[in-house]
Amino acid sequence: DNNTSSNFIRNIVIEDLESGKHKEIITRFPPEPNGYLHIGHAKSITLNFELAREFKGKTNLRFDDTNPLKEDVEYVESIKEDVQWLGFKWDNLHFASDYFEYMYEKAILLIQKGKAYVDDLSSEEIREYRGSLTQPGKESPYRNRSVKENLELFEAMAKGEYQDGSKVLRAKIDMTSPNMNMRDPVLYRIAHASHHNTGDKWCIYPMYDFAHPLGDAIEGVTHSVCTLEFEDHRPLYNWVIEECETENVPRQYEFARLNLTNTVMSKRKLKQLVDEGIVDSWDDPRMPTISGLRRKGYTPEAIRNFCREIGVARNYSMVDMQMLEHFIRDDLKQKALRTMAILKPLKVVITNYPEGQIEYLPAENNPENPEMGERRIPFSREIYIEQEDFMENPPKKYFRLFPGNEVRLKHAYFIQCNEVIKDDEGNVVEIRCTYDPETKSGTGFTGRKVKGTIHWVEASQAMPAEMRLYEPLILDEDQKEERHFLENINPNSLEVLQGLVEPTMADAKLHDKFQFFRHGYFNVDPKYTTKDKLVFNRIVSLKSSFKL
Ligand code: ATP
Ligand code: MG
Ligand code: MG
Repeated sequence: DNNTSSNFIRNIVIEDLESGKHKEIITRFPPEPNGYLHIGHAKSITLNFELAREFKGKTNLRFDDTNPLKEDVEYVESIKEDVQWLGFKWDNLHFASDYFEYMYEKAILLIQKGKAYVDDLSSEEIREYRGSLTQPGKESPYRNRSVKENLELFEAMAKGEYQDGSKVLRAKIDMTSPNMNMRDPVLYRIAHASHHNTGDKWCIYPMYDFAHPLGDAIEGVTHSVCTLEFEDHRPLYNWVIEECETENVPRQYEFARLNLTNTVMSKRKLKQLVDEGIVDSWDDPRMPTISGLRRKGYTPEAIRNFCREIGVARNYSMVDMQMLEHFIRDDLKQKALRTMAILKPLKVVITNYPEGQIEYLPAENNPENPEMGERRIPFSREIYIEQEDFMENPPKKYFRLFPGNEVRLKHAYFIQCNEVIKDDEGNVVEIRCTYDPETKSGTGFTGRKVKGTIHWVEASQAMPAEMRLYEPLILDEDQKEERHFLENINPNSLEVLQGLVEPTMADAKLHDKFQFFRHGYFNVDPKYTTKDKLVFNRIVSLKSSFKL
């Protein structure tokens, strides 16, 4: 699998290699460990790793861990797991926090060059002084401190002599720049907080715009790929590289982030869904996280193929969720065992089938992949069918079971409905049928035809299974409207049913994937399945109008 699609960043890489600007390219994937990775990150991961792989370069995984208040080792571990699960191997694993000493020295260099100063304005004052797009900023009264004073103050900041928020280190660039990011951006802030990697060693932490270019430079990253929100930060990125006089000169390139219909994709919002108990965890199958998609039953192949297909461009776009679903169907079509499962059982007694008799009928495992062979499924006098496959008073064109009608049982016989049994409240609780032994599947019977084929499981050997069916967590229209996303939660995003599966599923393992006849693709849930009960997540239903 080295399917590469052309894109503008790849073209730049090709040019840079042909011109000799670079001998080898180095990319990086730089997540902040403040949440779990989502499908948007998969786009960035696929791009960075596949670019390097195609041109025999390297890709680093670098944790952008410069904000101790939001970061956690749980996230570090989950990110490593997810990148590997997606099928990528990093060449080097780094933490931005490993470079704190280097960054500190570069900050001192800037101060010595008169390019940075310690500011005592509060964060609100800094915001006010910054001005707006229509109004130039105002210089801080502390902007012209001497190099000596700045050095002393910055060192005292690092020693812990000041409170959080009382001072910052700022770049001295241009308070009248039309680019707000160039109006003396903050480079360092004080935070008396324990860091997951450096513990209590530091109480000043570099800002993203300072740490990121320096991290890239240290690692020799040649093409630093990020999303379009950072386009306006590029002049600052280049300023940091130039003024810090780094040996390597990385370049930043931006592409449009992935947006998916019915999906929120910021870690902040995803964390809110977890914290407020709207989902059961970061890996809830309704989450667009890599771990949620994995638990739902997505495969790495499907996600990678999706990421390649959506491509890399510079214009905003909204991708239909159905496109992601297309790729999991496409991947599982040939791989998944096709079995029968009942989501809402209705008992059927076949009155002319001998009591106590049981036979085992052959059933192909995947008609699109004959190599998967066949299995034997039990059949007897009592079976279960789907409640919706029977109607007492059917509308026209209902070809399933109703009184007097005959249908085919998949892999078995024709049955005809003769009698309906109801409880005291009038609910249908059982139906009685007769079967025709002549019509056995595979015998080539052509005596008469039926219009409907329905699925079933034999009653005495059927295994109970919980079926978890999902709908989008976020209602449509969400992203257009200004409503808060928590007001757009779909109250019916999860339906839990107690169903039945074939006894052939007895040795199904966690994460095994099946196509249940007529219901779609299902994954054995790794969290709720116990040794007594299988739990399935529906990955996707069978049909879609979506065409690539
Ligand atoms: P979020 O806003 O979801 O928290 P982030 O950009 O803050 O995302 P990071 O951990 O900083 O999260 O992201 C790591 C990398 O993944 C960055 O290079 C970022 O540009 C990229 N990335 C994040 N979201 C998307 C997306 N939706 N599409 C493509 N790339 C993304
Ligand atoms: Mg970020
Ligand atoms: Mg973020």
